[in-house]
Amino acid sequence: MLSIQTKAEKICELLIENYGNTIVEREMEPIDELVLAILSQNTTDVNMFRAFENLKAVYPTWEQVLATSEGELAEVIKPSGFFHVKANRIQATLNEIHRRVGRLDISHLKDMPLPDAKKWLTSLHGVGPKTASIVLLFCFGKATLPVDTHVWRVTKRLGLIPEKTSRESAQPLLEEILPHDCIYSLNHNLIRHGREVCLARRPRCASCILQGECDYFQKTTCH
Ligand code: SF4
Repeated sequence: MLSIQTKAEKICELLIENYGNTIVEREMEPIDELVLAILSQNTTDVNMFRAFENLKAVYPTWEQVLATSEGELAEVIKPSGFFHVKANRIQATLNEIHRRVGRLDISHLKDMPLPDAKKWLTSLHGVGPKTASIVLLFCFGKATLPVDTHVWRVTKRLGLIPEKTSRESAQPLLEEILPHDCIYSLNHNLIRHGREVCLARRPRCASCILQGECDYFQKTTCH
């Protein structure tokens, strides 16, 4: 029987063979990425980017976002949905960064060990483990995996994490077993696999390249 690490490596390889070794080049400033991640909560990518573009057009600097009223900010980011909650979160987050660092800058996270950087970010109002992980992976290249609904579902079905694992506790478990050198591609490939093949309601097991590594496939009669 394969160890869980060997199984994780095999899954990485199969996903790379099928979808490629995608490294998404993001050139966003860490605070931009952080605000974008707050805007992404419970919405589509299209609406998230529309809201972010509006925000940057109306307020070219984060100091201006802090200086405006919550109501005006909410109007500007309306396309992202839950705009009052998100406006409050964005301003509270920026305020807290300014209070702690003395300016709107989080580049000091680059030199922090991963657990400390995660702790620092998740102690900000409205910043959960997924948001923190997005910032740390894309801006600072740290080996952390943002666990969205697709990553959570697919890794449970594969048996990389126990079936009853909560989304929050999935992240540290996965980071312990996944090969760090392919965490970028895994982030992209697991989401893609969840959207195109391992669908929430009816997984397309018959055409799945991960059958041989999948606990769900072994247990069910879908094959
Ligand atoms: S075999 Fe089925 S359940 Fe397993 S990863 Fe593939 S689609 Fe998902």
